[in-house]
Parts: sequence; structure tokens; C-alpha cells
Amino acid sequence: MLEQPANTTASVDDTQYDGQIIAALIDTEQRLLNALYRDGVSKQLVTARAAKLGLTQEFIKRCRLTGTRPSLRTCIKCDASFLSAGPHNRLCRRCPPR
Ligand SMILES: [Zn+2]
Repeated sequence: MLEQPANTTASVDDTQYDGQIIAALIDTEQRLLNALYRDGVSKQLVTARAAKLGLTQEFIKRCRLTGTRPSLRTCIKCDASFLSAGPHNRLCRRCPPR
């Protein structure tokens, strides 16, 4: 998710952008998935890879609530690539913190 620009004003009617906000949060995800499907990536492959990466609904929800930016990152201890919840998360699940 993009950072909020510093010049954002709060003077607009709170409900004015509701439709666009809903579309942005829901449709963007669908549009990105549709782009994958157009490239020949099946829904089953997306689901299987997401499960393999540990990209569960719970993980996604937690990232959205905390505003962290999940990404594949390299573990600083064992160099394995893993699904990291954000820049603060640099150790894979197999490498416990000291
Ligand atoms: Zn590791």
C-alpha cells in the first residue's frame, strides 16, 4: 500500500470517496490476479504458491492491519528466501532469534 502523501487534506466529506475506496481495495487485488491469469498462471497455481509461501488469509490480514509491507526477503542468518511480514522481519522461521 502506498504511503499517504503529506499534503492530504481532511476537509472532504468522509463518505465522498467510499465507492472509490472500496474499488481500490477490492478491485486492485482482482486486477492484479487477472493480470496473472492472462499470463497463463492458473488460479490453482496462485493458490498453491500462496500456500507454499505461507501467504495465508491470517498473514495478509495481519499485514493490512499493521500496515507492514510483506515481501520475499533473504534470511540474514541462513540466506534462505522467505515470506517476510516487513522490513523488520529478517529471520526465516527456521532461524530463531537469539
Ligand atoms: Zn534462516
